[in-house]
Amino acid sequence: MEVISIPCLRDNYAWLLVVHDGCVVVDPSEAGPVEAAIAAARVPLRAILATHHHPDHVGGIEALVEAHGVPVYGHVHDEDRIPRLSRPLSHGDRFDLHGGLAFEALHVPGHTLGAVTYVGHGWAFTGDTLFTAGCGRLFEGTAAQMHASLNGVLGALPDETWIACGHEYTASNLRFAAHVEPDQPAILARIAHVAALRQEGKPSVPARLGEERATNPFLRVDVPAVRAHFGLGAGPTGAEVFAALRAEKDSFQ
Ligand code: FE
Ligand code: ZN
Repeated sequence: MEVISIPCLRDNYAWLLVVHDGCVVVDPSEAGPVEAAIAAARVPLRAILATHHHPDHVGGIEALVEAHGVPVYGHVHDEDRIPRLSRPLSHGDRFDLHGGLAFEALHVPGHTLGAVTYVGHGWAFTGDTLFTAGCGRLFEGTAAQMHASLNGVLGALPDETWIACGHEYTASNLRFAAHVEPDQPAILARIAHVAALRQEGKPSVPARLGEERATNPFLRVDVPAVRAHFGLGAGPTGAEVFAALRAEKDSFQ
């Protein structure tokens, strides 16, 4: 499976997953750039996967369904919120697409209540749940739900998993990570690496889950230095540390 990031809107990424006789798009923000990527791949579109209902992730679905007549996958909770949703999914559902593409849907509420991460072929398409070096805001769910989604559900995936998220936010997320853990070597190294990529006009996404575990504060709620940033020791739960991190990040400039 070849995975192609498609820059959309201001800082969104749609993802095109290509095999020899077909392709699938995750989170088509807008139809134009996605149609161009499909044409360049020279294989038919087989399906659309939506990680959540926000307009910057589903804006291209209507036009793509009109043009290609493909099914739209998304969480059953979002049956009335994702345009043209025709394959409602629940946690743990597996589905097979054409050409050997197979995915599992993991329900990861927090950013929204119907958020899904699609896992398969060594990749996880996380939408606005797990960002590179950060996580999405809590628009609908609670801190406890998002903590369980990130550190419970996605926490079970192996270090080698490629994380493909919905936005180019890594550099600003890393500024917050360095605020929480100043002088942490992996974070400093990643800041330099991402700056070099961006200077060359390259995306900073995807990244391996192992790198996220080493640098993403929201996956580091049990690290003593992260707890110490809030004056907390070993007592509070991971969900409590997560809530403190998310609250501080919400107003971090
Ligand atoms: Fe969103
Ligand atoms: Zn988004």
